[in-house]
This record gives sequence, C-alpha cells and structure tokens, in this order.
Amino acid sequence: MSQQTKVLVTGAGGFIGHHLTKYLVERGYFVRGVDIKEPEYEPTAANEFLLLDLSQADNCLQATEGMDEVYGLAANMGGIGFIENNKAVIVRDNTLINLHTIEAARLNGVKRYLYTSSACIYPAYKQQETDVTPLKESDAYPADAEDGYGWEKLYMERVCRHYTEDFGVDTRVVRFHNIFGPLGAYDGGREKSPAAICRKIALAQDGDDIEVWGDGEQTRSYCYVDDCVEGIYRLMKSDYREPINLGQDRMISINELVDIVSNIAGKKIGKRYDLTKPQGVRGRNSDNTRLREVLNWEPSVSLEDGLAITYRWIAGELERQRIPETAFAAS
Ligand code: NAD
Repeated sequence: MSQQTKVLVTGAGGFIGHHLTKYLVERGYFVRGVDIKEPEYEPTAANEFLLLDLSQADNCLQATEGMDEVYGLAANMGGIGFIENNKAVIVRDNTLINLHTIEAARLNGVKRYLYTSSACIYPAYKQQETDVTPLKESDAYPADAEDGYGWEKLYMERVCRHYTEDFGVDTRVVRFHNIFGPLGAYDGGREKSPAAICRKIALAQDGDDIEVWGDGEQTRSYCYVDDCVEGIYRLMKSDYREPINLGQDRMISINELVDIVSNIAGKKIGKRYDLTKPQGVRGRNSDNTRLREVLNWEPSVSLEDGLAITYRWIAGELERQRIPETAFAAS
C-alpha cells in the first residue's frame, strides 16, 4: 500500500470484529476499532480503539470520520435463546446502529461499507426438514426471515442496496452461517451452539450426560473464524455488491457436533434432551456456488480442526477461572 488505507471495524470488541482487526492490522491497514466494550479475552490489535455507543448518530459520525472503508460488525446479538427472547431490544438497537453507521459513512465520504448479514434472513419455509436443500442467495424471497433479528438483517440488506443506487455508497453484504472459534462468548447466554457444547463437555466428567436443546437432530453448517475473516476481506476487495453466503457447506446435526467435541475431549459423553428449549429452524446449510464463483475461494478449515482449537481454548479459559490467581503468582 502506497498510502496506508484507514478502516473502521465496528464491533471490534466482539468475536469476529476482534479477529478481523488483527487480520487487517497484520496486512498493514490503519484500523480504528469501535465498540461499547473492549475485547474480553485479549487486548485489541487496533491502532486506535474508541469506546462509543453506535446507536447514537453523533458517535457514528465520530467513528467514521477520516475512514476510507467501514466493516460493520457491531450488533446486539447472541445465540438462539437470546435472539428468541429479546426481539424488541435487538431490532431497536441494531436498526439504530446500522442506519446511523451507514448514514455517517455517507456523510463522511467513506468509499466502501461492508454489512454483516446472516443466514437468519432465509425463510422459515425453506428450513423445515433436517435434510434441507442448501440455501442459495436467491432463496431469501419471498421473505419469511427469523423474527426480530433476521428481519432487521434483511431490512438492512435493502438499505445497503438503496444507499448504493441512490447515494453511490459502495456496499458489500455478507450472510454468515454459524461462525465459531476461540475468543468468542462461551457462557452467559450469548454463546452459540459450538461454544456451548465445548463448555458443557469441558465441565463434564468422562461418562456424564450433557443437556442438548431440542432432540439434537436439527442440522447446521459451521464455519471457522479464520475462514470467515478471510472471506470478509476477499469480499471487501471484490467488486461484488449483491448479498453472498459465507459459511461451510458441510451439514451436521447437533448430536454429531456433540460426538465430535466428545472425541476431541477424549470423554464419553451422553445426551439429555430438553425439548422445551429453543432450537431455531429444523435444518440449515449454505449453498456456496456463488461464493466460489465470485471469490474463487471457499472456507477450508475442517470442522474437526476448528473445533479442536476452540475446545482447547474454552477448556483453558474454564481451567484458568477454576484456579485462583494466587496459584499462578505462587508458582
Ligand atoms: P459479537 O456479539 O461477539 O460482536 C458484536 C459486537 O458489537 C459486540 O462486541 C458488542 O459489544 C458490539 N455492540 C453491540 N451494541 C453496540 C453499540 N450500541 N455500539 C457499539 N458496539 C456495539 O458478535 P459476532 O459473532 O462477532 O458478530 C459480528 C457480526 O456478524 C454481527 O453483525 C452479527 O449479527 C453477524 N453474524 C454473526 C454470526 C455468528 O455466527 N457469529 C452469524 C451471522 C451473523
């Protein structure tokens, strides 16, 4: 880079935003990270980190000032339990964050804006079987998105289109499918299924049962965070403006996910099903045809490799919490 490109990562205190910040700094970008909180598990790599509430328009103007590009990852979100029980808070916060951020980007002359959408925009009627057909981008309409969180994402996808067509803001829209990896939430209610299962198995003894939400036959695909970050970057560099899937296309059930993590942990783990807990759609997988065509690339980290890294990290965090600080100081 002849002149250092300045990029804003919103949600840089969160899981994917933190990894993306590291990736961009390593590639020589000047990164301004913004969030309402610092990253929880290690210090940010950002050149500049601002604690700002992006639901406020003035803060969005401050965050985007002087930036060439914006990666918009800030969102109030969590796992399926959080999403199903906090619809009003989610649509209120995320609508304000996203609309104020893209408008501030326009006012400050930002050249490119990437929006992080979700597989939750896909219609429920296409996800009623465990053995579903992978979702391709055109399946989004006629719309019947995940209530609350998914509808806000779909709405914001349209906002990006209108800002491009009417205001000339160059936008990118990526639809993530279940991203997982180390340095993400693993307890407290905002964690997703891979992290929750890793935590439960790390805390279990050999031969124990763990609680599984639903009957465990619901299916998903899971993408490791390093692949996600690379995909985001490649999309930002591309000239592709339509929404695009970013995920793995290997579909597995939650029961299989538990078995893979049990193997990694070297523990024999049984399953206790709680059918009263939310489980989301019955089946979901990503059709990566467009991803391959547009980016000439697709995620490559295997689920087993990604889960092994994630499990070790979560088990290590739990172990650190169990051992009092003084034990480290004394040794
Ligand atoms: P995350 O919750 O770890 O990160 C989001 C960050 O946004 C958090 O650090 C949070 O503090 C911050 N934030 C929330 N409200 C804010 C506010 N008012 N002002 C400033 N910052 C605020 O989530 P993540 O998994 O890193 O997700 C990043 C993006 O990707 C989000 O837009 C999310 O909806 C989307 N996404 C993620 C997944 C996934 O599997 N992780 C799947 C689909 C879509």
